[in-house]
Amino acid sequence: MCPDQDSWHTLHAHLEYGTLGGMSMTQAAPTSYRNFINGQWVDAAASGTLENRNPANQDDVVGVLPRSTPEDVDAAVAAARAAFGRWRLVPAPRRAELLYRAAEILSERKEDYARTMTREMGKILDETRGDVQEAIDMSYLMAGEGRRQYGQTVPSELREKFAMSIRQPIGVCGMITAWNFPIAVPSWKILPALVCGNTVVFKPAEEAPHSAVNFVQALHDAGLPPGVLNLVLGDGPGTGAPLVSHPDVNVISFTGSTETGRLVNQACASSFKKVHLEMGGKNVILVMDDADLELAVDGALWGGFGTSGQRCTAASRVVVHQKLHDAFVDAFVARTRQLRVGDGLEASTQMGPSVSEAQLSRVVDYVKIGQAEGATLAVGGNRLTSGAFARGFFHEPTIFTKVTPSMRIAREEIFGPVVSVLSCGSLDEAIATANDVAYGLSASIYTRDINKAFTAMRDVYTGLFYVNAPTIGAEVHLPFGGTKATGNGHREAGIAALDVFSEWKSIYVDFSGRLQRAQIDTVQI
Ligand code: NAD
Repeated sequence: MCPDQDSWHTLHAHLEYGTLGGMSMTQAAPTSYRNFINGQWVDAAASGTLENRNPANQDDVVGVLPRSTPEDVDAAVAAARAAFGRWRLVPAPRRAELLYRAAEILSERKEDYARTMTREMGKILDETRGDVQEAIDMSYLMAGEGRRQYGQTVPSELREKFAMSIRQPIGVCGMITAWNFPIAVPSWKILPALVCGNTVVFKPAEEAPHSAVNFVQALHDAGLPPGVLNLVLGDGPGTGAPLVSHPDVNVISFTGSTETGRLVNQACASSFKKVHLEMGGKNVILVMDDADLELAVDGALWGGFGTSGQRCTAASRVVVHQKLHDAFVDAFVARTRQLRVGDGLEASTQMGPSVSEAQLSRVVDYVKIGQAEGATLAVGGNRLTSGAFARGFFHEPTIFTKVTPSMRIAREEIFGPVVSVLSCGSLDEAIATANDVAYGLSASIYTRDINKAFTAMRDVYTGLFYVNAPTIGAEVHLPFGGTKATGNGHREAGIAALDVFSEWKSIYVDFSGRLQRAQIDTVQI
């Protein structure tokens, strides 16, 4: 999941915080994106369009997407419903062969897809390459699952009876995703759904439609039959909401904010639709007094400012033992000053822009909130507006110190390059602070004491936990997701993803030729 951490180290050690060197690629003409329904790229009925602009340079229009309507959603769901009857009967190992081919196609196109992704949503090239790589890894993992999808065979309590369970596909799955991992996150949902034998209608984020189009194109080129994977482009209320409430959609898998996830959950409740939610986070790094200081600073930098802080797993809080606090803050602030902010397409850039004006305004607002709450602004705190920054959504990487657990900047998801440093006097206090938020996605501890590491591993209530590493760095073959307001009990990625997109059927075969009654006709020993 992580881009190459070594290059991150080397760069931030050498580079000065500076100005942009101008656009590093020739601006291509805007693309008009279309929906993909029943194996064809088609125009939407659409009630207007949205623009996809480069967040590093608003003069660069990457493309134009339709605001698809409920009518478009109907067409996509109908295609998926019709294809389900055939696709569910394709043997899983054959379904998996197409996913294996998709992995190879994504590998061939990795650089191209990464560059497009950086241009449309801003994260640096190392990270967008990592995003595509994650989808490649997921494709290979799910290709393998075509020959597994293990069920159980268990002994029956009756003599001439056979007992087993199998996974069955559920039907049409609606996938709604955020923009920050525009190929990786869709792959966590779409590939397990497909290998289980479901069909899909995909509604990506309006901020990153080009990457969604690229991902769908790769799967189409791998040979998916018409209707198995469909794409509808548009915004949340106009396109996402009709997909969520569509009576012919059996599963909704959603990644986005907790506020929207709550609406999605409510919309699914009355029909008992299966709903899988991956939502916000307020993740934490705990730095104990015996930690390797330099390693902890490396982790805080990467965890806090990677993807400009726009990761659900971003380390937006660092809780440092008071004995190490001042030394940690000095080093963390010094290294943050050296980070080079700029256009993610330039090789020297270490932190790109926020994705949109709205996202940047949120960052600016939280900086004001932190100051009003009495936290100390140790570095950063300003929007970058001069020179080459003028046409983008850039903000300085920002650290607040003297933050207390009750402050809003320590409790609410900011989703930008703002890190709050808190102080603690013991491991118990650090764990209590870690758990004292509404979210439960990711946490980590820096310590050389194995007892402390295992205690925190046990007692911090999150879905992901790291020892001597930051809060980011998940790999596709383990479950991904969070507790509390981050999720609703499901997990994606790993084999756990199969549980979202399949239902268990328990099967009993009686080969006695007579009525055998379970629990009543007990076998005598
Ligand atoms: P968002 O909730 O605004 O949008 C997410 C998606 O939902 C978009 O595709 C949007 O069009 C759609 N949507 C919006 N309103 C809708 C509605 N009423 N009905 C149906 N769909 C609707 O989130 P965002 O701001 O784009 O993304 C950032 C959020 O996503 C952060 O909170 C971040 O933590 C979270 N996120 C979580 C994970 C995770 O795995 N837990 C991963 C990435 C991002």
